[in-house]
Amino acid sequence: MRRTNCVPIRGTLRCSFCGLEITEGERYWYCNGRTACAVCLPEFARQELAPFCRTRGREGRR
Ligand SMILES: [Zn+2]
Repeated sequence: MRRTNCVPIRGTLRCSFCGLEITEGERYWYCNGRTACAVCLPEFARQELAPFCRTRGREGRR
């Protein structure tokens, strides 16, 4: 089997959110043990960046 840089070698790579297979040549994001396809990236980013989320007018409050 051919070894590619930093790509986990498994039969099928699936998106952690929608469960769809990420196919050859498709871009995806891998962070904190989860994989996100391009469609799920906004949701993934929202979760990963949640600590940095602010509401305008309520900065400084919890
Ligand atoms: Zn997805």
